[in-house]
Amino acid sequence: MKAAVYLSKQQFEVTDIPMPEPGPGQVLIKVNKSAICGTDVHAFMHDLAPSGAVLGHEFAGIISASGAGVTRWKEGDRVVGGGGEWPVGKEPPTKSHPRYNYRTMGFTDTRTRGYAEYTVLDDWAPLPIPEGVTDEVAALTEPCSVAVHAVRRSSLRLGDTVGVFGAGPIGLLVTQAARAAGANVIVSEPAPGRSDAALAVGAQTVIDPFEQDPVERMVELTDGHGPSVVFDCAGLKNTLQQAFDAVRRAGQVVLVAVPWEPLPLLPAEWMAREIDFRSSWGGLPGDWKIALDLMARGKISASSLMTDTSVITLDEIQEHFEALMSPTTQLQTIIRM
Ligand SMILES: [Zn+2]
Repeated sequence: MKAAVYLSKQQFEVTDIPMPEPGPGQVLIKVNKSAICGTDVHAFMHDLAPSGAVLGHEFAGIISASGAGVTRWKEGDRVVGGGGEWPVGKEPPTKSHPRYNYRTMGFTDTRTRGYAEYTVLDDWAPLPIPEGVTDEVAALTEPCSVAVHAVRRSSLRLGDTVGVFGAGPIGLLVTQAARAAGANVIVSEPAPGRSDAALAVGAQTVIDPFEQDPVERMVELTDGHGPSVVFDCAGLKNTLQQAFDAVRRAGQVVLVAVPWEPLPLLPAEWMAREIDFRSSWGGLPGDWKIALDLMARGKISASSLMTDTSVITLDEIQEHFEALMSPTTQLQTIIRM
């Protein structure tokens, strides 16, 4: 079968590899659509992915075979590649390791995953795709669960105004999850395609941080107080400081993006306002279910993250990863298998 194998040094090879076989308690999934995640772009950019790995953890497909003892799926069932409740003892290290460090432990997996025609999962791992949710949209369940998790970890309450830095895929999904939770959303985003998308998914105002000071503008738009919660979905050099600067007294900053470099912070600027800080990591199985439900009910439109150029073939993976390394106006890229 065809797969994009990561060689090393920012190089994929699209090649034939042996078809995986489901063992006892496992299912073989034929991947239909696989989304390119920012995490994978980081792994590529910083050459963190192990050589020989087939990345990709955001995918939708169908069950195409089952190993011994599998009763919960039948051939042809539509699934997303994650979100199932893990059995005791099968918790991922991100949730179970007492001292988990994503930078040093995050990229050790060499299993063949979603940038391939087929992949194998334990039978408890996938979730069924609700009727009416397309494969393109379902492929985004994982990033959507990240957004749902961030909003559920926040102190957001009905009617609050929140700030979102960055309208890439995660920022756009956080915007929609916050809207679904009853918030008004102010977004800071310079790329025109992304700021248009933010307005299309319900942001009240989008600030271009190259034109206006986003902190000043967020404070102005909230009668001089600042948003109740500010989500940093950009993780750039200055956005966490801006989030702290913008948030209201006793408000909350939630870090959703993963900064890979030290960030300059000047706490004397904002400490006296007694701000809470939370990091938010990935999504729990319950968040995946909420994400699928919000998509099925039209509360989260993943299709608004896509443009005509969003769907590519596996053969185009190399050029698209290279393009995604530099700041982009592209929204979400999806590979059609
Ligand atoms: Zn992801």
